[in-house]
Amino acid sequence: MSYKKSEKLFKKGSKHLVGAVNSPVRAFASVGGSPLFIKKAKGSKITDVDDNTYIDFVLSYGPMILGHRHKKVEKAIRKALKNGYSFGASTKAEITLAKIVCDAFPGMDKVRFVNSGTEAVFSALRLARAFTGRDKIIKFAGCYHGHADALLVAAGSGLATLSLPGSKGVPDAAVKNTLVSNYNDLDSVAAHFEKHNDIAAVIIEPVAGNMGVVLPENDFLKKLKKLLESKGALLIVDEVMTGFRSKFGGAQELLGVEADITCLGKVIGGGFPVGAYGAREEIMQMVSPLGEMYQAGTLSGNPIAMAAGISTLTELKRQNPYKKFDTDAQRIEEALLSSAKKYNVDITVNRFGAMINPFFTDTQVSNFAEAQTSDTAKFAKFFWEMMRQGVFLPPSQFEAWFLSSALSEEDIDATIAAIDKSMQVVAG
Ligand SMILES: *Cc1c(COP(=O)(O)O)cnc(C)c1O
Repeated sequence: MSYKKSEKLFKKGSKHLVGAVNSPVRAFASVGGSPLFIKKAKGSKITDVDDNTYIDFVLSYGPMILGHRHKKVEKAIRKALKNGYSFGASTKAEITLAKIVCDAFPGMDKVRFVNSGTEAVFSALRLARAFTGRDKIIKFAGCYHGHADALLVAAGSGLATLSLPGSKGVPDAAVKNTLVSNYNDLDSVAAHFEKHNDIAAVIIEPVAGNMGVVLPENDFLKKLKKLLESKGALLIVDEVMTGFRSKFGGAQELLGVEADITCLGKVIGGGFPVGAYGAREEIMQMVSPLGEMYQAGTLSGNPIAMAAGISTLTELKRQNPYKKFDTDAQRIEEALLSSAKKYNVDITVNRFGAMINPFFTDTQVSNFAEAQTSDTAKFAKFFWEMMRQGVFLPPSQFEAWFLSSALSEEDIDATIAAIDKSMQVVAG
């Protein structure tokens, strides 16, 4: 398998692009080697510029849940293109997508569309603060909520629990109202409430996907919601990754919890830049032009992006592939565990619906500290052998693998065979 053309583009791209990429994970920094440049994709497969074709478990980090270039989505996009690209005034498509989204999340009466998950999340924080009149926010170590200043704390850094900025360029003032708790640890949330009476909200990934897949345990979310209710604080559920992915109504539907504010992204744009935040009437009334919380966007509700979102969600609802996701993920989990056992490699596998990944560790993983016990060198070995075997995985131990409804029986069989070879390489 040759990567010559990708390597060439990497060199060329490095001149005018930072690290030749526009989002850091694409740089393959944690697995080494030259990042892939993609030529095209169709269905369950993706092809790089060297004409290597892979079964795709990256799926643009989630959005391509139907696989690439689904016929109905492509048709809807082409149709929308004919009418123009952006107007700075409203279109019917925005109303259609808003209804689909609000119907899927029972706690959501109204929604506002934005252009990314990051934008959805920082708008939701502003909204929670506007609604409660309080300033502080609690987040969980290892959860990623986009790159807004206030949330670049413990998004992967050991400085995290001290509330020190996780990135240079983030002033202390921007994170002084951010408190950090541990995932699956309600006491670490309650402790903050004992010290502070100005906590506006807790933001959480209902199933974490940005420290690898980590599930909430023992009704953690339900207990969290109850605690927040007693303190008059809001629960912001960041479903940018999990929304429409694990279930049409997101992880909230599966876990039986209702958010005060829900953040969405990724799947709702079907591959185009769309984010959204929504809540019950009383909260959304705060947002401009109805209320005094300002938030705007020149390209928000873009008609092409709306068309992609509407057609993706409509087709997703029709296919209802969630049972198939579970079956496919289960087969992959069994393959990972049995190959690891066969070659004597320590792993733990976590999965939730159409999200799964192995951690190269012998402990269970239910929080960030446990995720960090993984042997990332073993993951890098595994990753590159999977590439050689024709399977494209996210190039990091701490990213979820995503399943698409376009995966065939043969794709899963091929993936299982690749897992076995790759695990052997890890062991050897
Ligand atoms: C991807 C992600 C974001 C950020 O979304 P962008 O569209 O990359 O800005 C926020 N929260 C979660 C849970 C995510 O997975």
